[in-house]
Amino acid sequence: MDNGIRHILGKKTFTKADIVELLMCEGENKKALFAKSAEITEKYIGRKVWLRGLIEFSNICGKNCLYCGIRKGNHNIERYSLSDEEIVQAATFALRNSYGSIALQSGELESCNVTDRIEKLVRNIKNLSAGKLGITLSVGEQTPETYKRWFEAGAHRYLLRMEATNELLYAKIHPNDAAHSFHRRLDCLKSLQDTGYQTGTGVMIGLPFQTADNLADDLLFMNGFDIDMCGMGPYIEHADTPLANTSGGLLSIEQRFELTLKMIAIIRIMMKDINIVASTAMQAIYPAGRERAISAGANIIMPNITPLMYRGSYRLYDNKPITDVRPENSAATALAGAEVAYGSWGDSSHYGKRTGIRQ
Ligand code: SAH
Ligand code: SF4
Repeated sequence: MDNGIRHILGKKTFTKADIVELLMCEGENKKALFAKSAEITEKYIGRKVWLRGLIEFSNICGKNCLYCGIRKGNHNIERYSLSDEEIVQAATFALRNSYGSIALQSGELESCNVTDRIEKLVRNIKNLSAGKLGITLSVGEQTPETYKRWFEAGAHRYLLRMEATNELLYAKIHPNDAAHSFHRRLDCLKSLQDTGYQTGTGVMIGLPFQTADNLADDLLFMNGFDIDMCGMGPYIEHADTPLANTSGGLLSIEQRFELTLKMIAIIRIMMKDINIVASTAMQAIYPAGRERAISAGANIIMPNITPLMYRGSYRLYDNKPITDVRPENSAATALAGAEVAYGSWGDSSHYGKRTGIRQ
C-alpha cells in the first residue's frame, strides 16, 4: 500500500482530491479501502442486513428523465397501476414474512387524487400491521404539504435520489424544462428532511459525461446534507431511452459495478451509521451483486414483492431482474457474512442521533 492511501484512510474527513484518489485506487490499495469500510460497518452497523419489501405499485410516470425505461415518452411498455387491494396484499405478505418494512415506489405523478390515495394506503397499512411495518416512500417530487400528510399518515422514510448533484450533469440527463428542475428536486429533498422523514438520496454511477470529480462531489454533497439513507446504483442503459443513444463516453458495465462498490465503501467510511441500500441494479449486473454491495458496506436489501405479473413492466433499465429469492435462501447473503434482521424496522441510527430521537 502506498502512503497516500494509508494517509487518506486515517483521516477524519476526506477532501475532494482524497475521494478521487480512493475512487481510482486498485490492487492492495483497493483491498485496504474495502477492509476499512468492513471495519466501520462491523463497528457501527454490525453484521446485519434489514429488508424493505419493494412494491413497485405503478409504472405510470409524468416525467421524461432521459435514462429511464418508464419515462412518459416510452410507448413500448404496458402501463399498470396496482389496485389498493393488491398493494395491501403485498404489504400483508411482507408482514407475514417478518420483513419489518416495505417500500412503496412508482413513477412520478402529482395530483390531489395521488396524494389522497397514498395517504389512505399508508394509514391502512399502518393499521393492518398495528404499526409493525415500517414504510418507505419513493414516489418523487411533491409539495411540502403532501410530504407532510404522508408523514403524518405514518410513512417515516423517503427516498428521492438526486441522480446527479452537479447541476450541469443533471441538465444533460434530463429534459430542459420546468418539470425536470434540479432546484425543485433539491428543494424537495430539503422539504423531506424538514418534515421529519429519514431522508435518503443517491446518484447513478457511470452516467455518460460523469467524471470522478462529479462522483466525489456527490459524496461530499450527501455528507454535507447529512442524509440518513443512501441509495446509489450503477447506471444501466435502457434501449428505448434517449440517453442510451448518447455518445457520452461510457465505462464498461463491469467498471460501473466496481465504481459503485467503491462509492458504497467510501460513503460508509464517511457517514458510518447511515443506511445504505444494496441496489437492484447491482443484481442486474451480477446475480450476487447485492451481496457484493453488502460486503462493501451496504446494509439494506429491497426484495421485490410486487405481484409477479407486473414486474416485467417496471423496467427502469435493461436486464432488470424479475425474480427474487427469499433473502434467507440466498447462499450469497451467507457468503457476505451478514445475517438478515427479521421483524425489525432497521431505522437509520444516524437519524436518531441527528434528531435526538432514539431508534
Ligand atoms: N419516480 C421516482 C421513483 C422511481 S425511479 C423517482 O424518480 O424518484 C427509481 C430510481 O430508478 C431513480 O431514482 C433512478 O435513479 C433509477 N433509474 C432509473 N433509470 C435508471 C437506469 N437507466 N439505470 C439505473 N438506474 C435507473
Ligand atoms: Fe419517472 Fe422516476 Fe423514471 Fe424519472 S426516474 S422517468 S421520475 S420513474
